[in-house]
Amino acid sequence: MKKIVIIGGGIAGLSAGCYARMNGYDTGIFEMHDRPGGLCTSWQRKGYTFDICIHWLVGSSPQSPYYAIWRELGALQGKKIYYRDRTISMFLKEQTIHFYNDPDMLEKELKRIAPQDGPVIDELMDCVRKFYLFCEIPPMKPKELFTIFDTLKMLKTFAPFMSFLKKYGKATIDDFADLFTSPILRKAMKAFRFDSSSNDFFAVPFSLATRDYGFPEGGSGSFAQSIERRFAGLGGTIRYGAKVEKVLVENGKAAGIRLADGTEVPADIVISAADGRATHFGMLEGKYLDKKIRLIYETESVMPSYVQVSIGVNMDLSERFSPSALYFIHELDEPVTISGEERNYLQIEHYSFDPSFAPPGKSTLVIAFFSQAAYWERLRGDREAYRREKKRIETTVVSRLEKIIPGVSEKIETIDVATPLTIVRYTGNWQGSIMGFTKPFTLNIPRTLRGLKDFYMAGQWVGDSGLPGAAGSGRDIVQLICRKDGRKFKTSAP
Ligand SMILES: Cc1cc2nc3c(=O)[nH]c(=O)nc-3n(C[C@H](O)[C@H](O)[C@H](O)COP(=O)(O)OP(=O)(O)OC[C@H]3O[C@@H](n4cnc5c(N)ncnc54)[C@H](O)[C@@H]3O)c2cc1C
Repeated sequence: MKKIVIIGGGIAGLSAGCYARMNGYDTGIFEMHDRPGGLCTSWQRKGYTFDICIHWLVGSSPQSPYYAIWRELGALQGKKIYYRDRTISMFLKEQTIHFYNDPDMLEKELKRIAPQDGPVIDELMDCVRKFYLFCEIPPMKPKELFTIFDTLKMLKTFAPFMSFLKKYGKATIDDFADLFTSPILRKAMKAFRFDSSSNDFFAVPFSLATRDYGFPEGGSGSFAQSIERRFAGLGGTIRYGAKVEKVLVENGKAAGIRLADGTEVPADIVISAADGRATHFGMLEGKYLDKKIRLIYETESVMPSYVQVSIGVNMDLSERFSPSALYFIHELDEPVTISGEERNYLQIEHYSFDPSFAPPGKSTLVIAFFSQAAYWERLRGDREAYRREKKRIETTVVSRLEKIIPGVSEKIETIDVATPLTIVRYTGNWQGSIMGFTKPFTLNIPRTLRGLKDFYMAGQWVGDSGLPGAAGSGRDIVQLICRKDGRKFKTSAP
């Protein structure tokens, strides 16, 4: 049986591993970190669990076409799925707005606040409802195997969305917000801006189209471990602390990998599910970059990275932060400066809905800010300045939180600040990006490379971002391999 080596044990790599084993390939994953999941991770501090990834999981409901993939990967079996009924509760100085994830309720709420803005609200809600089409395209066939019929079918699915792309394809959140006459809704819409570089109108419907997307019990770490267990149960092997430095090539075909410790692992097929830039420019030494790929890496913007302040607090905050909302966004009297930019809102998540996140009577809070990695790159190499900047953020965030929850600072038992450099260190993602390129759909990034046989790329850097994208990507690649080997692609579920 052919041997497949997979670089990276994030969700794309784990998924590729599971499907490769379902189809009988001898499969090994090589992961540089000491745990599975890549970006899909959580960590423990003093009895609290801090989670960075899953906010909402497309495919968590059995009605979703993606559910089949999570079933095949053993990701959700036996887990309770928590559903929130509001994406955001936004506490503006003037008024509180609840962004329900049920589009009908949301429409009602927005029209209650600004009846005069009915036509703009109708347009936004139409876009939110249509946004689900993006998330729910059945993922069962790789794009490389699409016939003209499949392409037409897919274009038809996108057709209702075309008028929005035409109208708002180049619009910013600010442009859209200015269409509201209500100052409250204008302000609320502007609060959807992640940072100065992410001002794309579509961030608004993307953030609001979350109905039926739940949170699996145990969060991201447990989710990744479940898929790792499935992989092991299928007979796959995963080696941790194994950083791949080079893809070995013989006669124009991938022949294995070389690890940082010099070990060479021969293989018939290599799949890189690691960072795209490191794969192209490092492991492949820039030898298989055609004009298109080079241009993408030179010119395309990437989703920004993250600064996350995670707090374990000896207070039961479940009443204060009702478990029915995902984000609690509070307008601040005094801004917080992150990566040199003033932020006027604190985005708080509270995990009381899942008892595994904090000891009884205590609470886990996460406060996150999108942040460009470039600011942090400047601090690389100056450990003291980096430590000071983290401490400054910790102190400022706690002081702002104190205004929202009086007495909280006295009750904090543990606090952890993760920066874009943390993300780079643990996952190798270029610029610490949380989802790869900003506009993956329009780029159509190739998953095989001209001039290099038996080599595939999976995951967020070939446009398959988000957890369903990453998992679907691993599945797709194994389908392509099976097709090439003349084998029928098989799946199973535990
Ligand atoms: C803050 C945040 C919030 C998010 N929220 C959501 C959400 O709510 N819903 C959702 O669907 N998605 C969300 N995502 C996105 C999602 O997590 C990612 O798109 C997805 O996990 C990417 O998976 P991947 O396998 O492609 O890449 P990664 O997770 O980056 O995995 C790559 C793996 O390769 C390993 N690696 C890298 N280089 C090497 C090497 N040289 N040798 C060996 N191993 C290597 C890394 O350690 C890593 O484990 C979020 C991400 C973040 C960070």
